[in-house]
Amino acid sequence: MAKYTDSKCRLCRREGAKLFLKGERCFKPTCAFERRPVAPGQHGMARKKISEYGLQLREKQKCKRIYGVLEGQFREYFEKADRMKGITGENMLSLLERRLDNVIFRMGVGSSRSQARQLVTHGHFTVNGKKVNIASYCVKVGDVIAVKENKKDNKYFAEIKTMKVGSMPKWLEFDPENLTGKILANPTREDVADVSIKENMIVELYSK
Ligand code: SF4
Repeated sequence: MAKYTDSKCRLCRREGAKLFLKGERCFKPTCAFERRPVAPGQHGMARKKISEYGLQLREKQKCKRIYGVLEGQFREYFEKADRMKGITGENMLSLLERRLDNVIFRMGVGSSRSQARQLVTHGHFTVNGKKVNIASYCVKVGDVIAVKENKKDNKYFAEIKTMKVGSMPKWLEFDPENLTGKILANPTREDVADVSIKENMIVELYSK
């Protein structure tokens, strides 16, 4: 599968916002966006007037980059959301939140979505007792996510066992001691308040 391999911090500077792609570093003074909050490249400092289309495009790019999804798959999320009942933009965010890599990140088992994705693709988790190593796997209400029995004693997960559960989104539950979590509900827009995306602009862009 195609993968973005360039600097993640460059993406934040490109979007003019912190996308929190690098875990703990994003909260430190070494954050590249804090140090240089302008677009990368020779003309990064130049002020440009952005058209409505340009603004919609930037919102879509920002959303794709936050969740680490490439164009084709992102479009599929939009199309699926559009076929669902309710508000398309909110449905789309809900589907993105339900990706297994995002769920692992939200549970605090990965410090960033990309680290969580790596843990998933390396086959560390089960969903309802079956191994799942697909980062885009869409979880549903009632699913039980667990670290595989034979991985529970490795150093990384041994540290997670001692972690204090912080502010867990209310649609999720996680028990660090047993390295097991559960999907309690589908995420709503309110649950994704930390994702500063204007999803209606993405819907407008794709509806042209
Ligand atoms: Fe973005 Fe995090 Fe890099 Fe800061 S440290 S620029 S928030 S990815």
